[in-house]
Amino acid sequence: MRLDRFLSETTELTRSLAKKAMHRGEVSVDGEVIKNPATQVGEASRVTWNGEPLALVGLRYVMLHKPMGVECTARRTLYPRAIDLIELPKVERLQPVGRLDVDTTGLVLLTDDGQWSHRVTSPKHRCGKVYRVTLAEPLEGDALARAIEAFAEGVVLEGEETPTRPAELAMREPTVAELTLYEGKYHQVKRMFAAIGNHVVALHRESIGPLALGELPEGEWRELTADEIAAF
Ligand code: URA
Repeated sequence: MRLDRFLSETTELTRSLAKKAMHRGEVSVDGEVIKNPATQVGEASRVTWNGEPLALVGLRYVMLHKPMGVECTARRTLYPRAIDLIELPKVERLQPVGRLDVDTTGLVLLTDDGQWSHRVTSPKHRCGKVYRVTLAEPLEGDALARAIEAFAEGVVLEGEETPTRPAELAMREPTVAELTLYEGKYHQVKRMFAAIGNHVVALHRESIGPLALGELPEGEWRELTADEIAAF
């Protein structure tokens, strides 16, 4: 990799500021001041800027317990963004692996590994996402039996032509459902319950495939372990 790119990947410098820093003699490779931004550096090169050693950040995998009022977007809006809660270098490179609405709480995975993200979200990999859904109206008896069947067969959401993929519905309490989805359409849980004449008043994602929030407190994040990353 070119030295100016290495600096832009490992510091807050843009490539043009990196070139200026090199020009001022602030950058060394293996103990030698280097001014040519096209100089190639590799994993074994010891690069320093103003004497500080620099290292490339590898791929990152994070779980976040998203609180209410936080958005899973990259652009700044009036809400804080999920990445604003995470303290890692170059955090803006992390992308949410499937978004949650601003008023939904729970498990969000973030990564800069596009292939891994695709494995987690692609319906082909059947990675179940479990939601705890609080409903406005109790769902019991025949209505519940019909809802279980409808969700298992797939419902056609408003504005769509193809039905949702088979989903599993169970009730924990008359107004608290557990719904497992194997895809992620826009506002899918809310639209599925709207399709059967109910209304979601609170929504929380508990797990994605083998990964659950566990004891991670709301608003907190942690990096995934190698085993957790490999589990997908
Ligand atoms: N379905 C929704 O309606 N909202 C979410 O945030 C996630 C799934």
